[in-house]
Amino acid sequence: MTDVSRRTFLATTAASLGAGLAGPGSPSALAAADDFTDLVDAHVHVWTPDTVAWPLAAAFTKADMQPASFTAEELLATCRPHGVSRVVLIQMSFYGFDNSYMLDCIHRHPPAFAGVAIIDHDKPGVAAEMKALKGRGVRGFRLYANRKNAQAWADSAGMQAMWECGADENLAMCLLADPDALPAIAAQVARYPKTPVVIDHFARLGMKGGLESPEAQANMERLLTLADYAEVNVKVSAFYALGAKQPPYDDLAPMIRRLRDAYGSKRLMWATDCPYQLDQGPAGEAHSYTASLELVRDRLDFLSREERLDILRNTARRVFFDGLA
Ligand SMILES: [Zn+2]
Repeated sequence: MTDVSRRTFLATTAASLGAGLAGPGSPSALAAADDFTDLVDAHVHVWTPDTVAWPLAAAFTKADMQPASFTAEELLATCRPHGVSRVVLIQMSFYGFDNSYMLDCIHRHPPAFAGVAIIDHDKPGVAAEMKALKGRGVRGFRLYANRKNAQAWADSAGMQAMWECGADENLAMCLLADPDALPAIAAQVARYPKTPVVIDHFARLGMKGGLESPEAQANMERLLTLADYAEVNVKVSAFYALGAKQPPYDDLAPMIRRLRDAYGSKRLMWATDCPYQLDQGPAGEAHSYTASLELVRDRLDFLSREERLDILRNTARRVFFDGLA
């Protein structure tokens, strides 16, 4: 049994054991009592060890695939016991611009998945490609928004075509942002205020050097300022990688509270960033699917039940699943 399938087995077993427990604090008891079902995980990567059928891009080898396998089926076995029925698949870097494995997963499991694809914005016909992918379940496009890239957007005809098409077709620009790219991102959002935007993982504030430094606080203010644009949404996600990087992730609460205050719960969406959320931390602490979900569903006492459901379900359904309420 691979690590992942073993973890999946353990998670499934734990969830089914939990169903038989009367304890009010058990995850499944809470989920049942409060109807935390049909949840959406807004950011997961899938890949298959079958690199013959689904070849890797030139820059990658099998050694880059850690874990070796995280297929759509392994993902569904991981998330469904937690009441998560829909997932936004994020094109994995291993496959470059070849979105076909992700598209195949979307095709094989309706209506569980929507996709965020990666395309080459320097190739002609960007808008036509976006529309063709929309017909196959893609609802967003991933942009590697480091500072250098984001500063170059203004001078890229292909990038302008992408943001225009995003506004016209209701397709989101999904930004894997670095904190120091936020000024350039703000300039682009100001040029295209009608284009839906989703910023991954709190713009990765607190990935390096914690959340308390003056620099981190200044970047936090920049992220909060972007809330002035109605089409900007933020992913509350990748807890394993941010701040103290330790479950139960309570140190992220002040940041999430400020985002709730600025954006409202209807523009925040939860995501795990599996399979990485399933990895063991450096000190051996267990990052798990349960730990990620519990932070938003059961902790964060400043959130109302409705706000929890917005973050865990409604925002991602609106942005990525054609407006399902
Ligand atoms: Zn990710």
